[in-house]
Amino acid sequence: MPSNNSTNIAAFKDVWVFCEQRQGKLMPTVLELLSEGRKLADDLGVDLCGILLGDQVDHLVSELGGYGADKVYVCESPLLKDYTTDAYAKVICDVTSEQKPEIFLIGATHIGRDLGPRCAARLHTGLCADCTALDVDTKKYVRFLRNASTLNVDGMKWDETDRNLKMTRPAFGGHLMATIICPRFRPSMATVRPGVMQKRPYSQAKADACQIVRPDFKLDERDLCTKVTEVVKTARKMVDLIGADFIVSVGRGISKDVEDGLKIAKELADELGGIVAGSRVAIDSGWLNADRQVGQTGKTVRPIVYIALGISGAIQHRAGMQDSDCIIAVNKNSTAPIFEIADYGICGDLFKIVPLLTQMVREAKTNH
Ligand code: FAD
Repeated sequence: MPSNNSTNIAAFKDVWVFCEQRQGKLMPTVLELLSEGRKLADDLGVDLCGILLGDQVDHLVSELGGYGADKVYVCESPLLKDYTTDAYAKVICDVTSEQKPEIFLIGATHIGRDLGPRCAARLHTGLCADCTALDVDTKKYVRFLRNASTLNVDGMKWDETDRNLKMTRPAFGGHLMATIICPRFRPSMATVRPGVMQKRPYSQAKADACQIVRPDFKLDERDLCTKVTEVVKTARKMVDLIGADFIVSVGRGISKDVEDGLKIAKELADELGGIVAGSRVAIDSGWLNADRQVGQTGKTVRPIVYIALGISGAIQHRAGMQDSDCIIAVNKNSTAPIFEIADYGICGDLFKIVPLLTQMVREAKTNH
């Protein structure tokens, strides 16, 4: 079983990203992670590498390069065609033990959440799950804290030579954010929820320059305890909240007349070409499906416009939408916390205001 020796941290170099693909297509979160990984690699002055597992998947390499990878370690085998914990964990741990990356990022998809802890345990290192911010550069981390926390950062002592990956994530039920480091073991491993990191623009020059490395690895049928006999896709079409440009989100504020609340929210979303989402209350009350939940335990979204209808703006909700380009809040309580982060706030009854907004959008569209 591979095990990374923790006594020589200096032997570890480069930032790695697990490039999750399913049926020959990259998961969107991989491109977000590469973009974030690029910043970390630049700060450390090292390479950004992808590790791509599958069967006949090397056509994906240039896309990975275009989003920042300098190199991609491609591990191909018919036994890696479909994800299995045993096969993927074995190959990743073998290659990682050999190549010794300093940082290893994995998307917190269902597969990533299964794979990450398994690899971390085998490599005898630490993993911080569900990170929302990552830094290696202490000055940048201090800047992040100055903006995102109530700490008196200027009154604290900082070691500017510290190269540990600072992994920030919600803790204690989302009531505070914690930054975690893994000082004695490598790689520092982190899973990151889809949609949290921003994708950088594609670069054709980077795509053309990306190098393929084919590491040696051993894998045979005996390494697999499970066999995938069929991949069945769910019939229900999941909504693409993360990719939506316009989101109209409802909260408990529609409880007076849920049917009408959802109807007017949908009319506004349709007029904008957007999607209806909700706070956890809207999901827990059964008004909307779970794939429409925005927030810490739902999805992290970054649309052009996020319209919050009857949502108070609890910290767990804000965690999933506060980076939207423009936030419009409609709430009858003028002191609702959502107004603190809203670009435009309308104080009043959403049942009266939303139809007027829809009408305004309709008119604006006809006049253009
Ligand atoms: P409320 O907080 O009850 O707010 C309703 C708002 O509607 C009020 O501000 C009220 O003034 C306004 N209102 C009422 N009637 C009207 C009207 N007619 N017109 C206009 N405004 C009106 N929450 C999430 O959303 N997403 C998450 O992922 C999430 N994860 C969580 C994880 C943990 C571990 C915990 C502990 C909580 C989590 N929560 C999450 C729950 C969160 O703390 C809040 O309870 C929730 O976001 C509140 O939802 P809300 O704003 O719809 O309801």
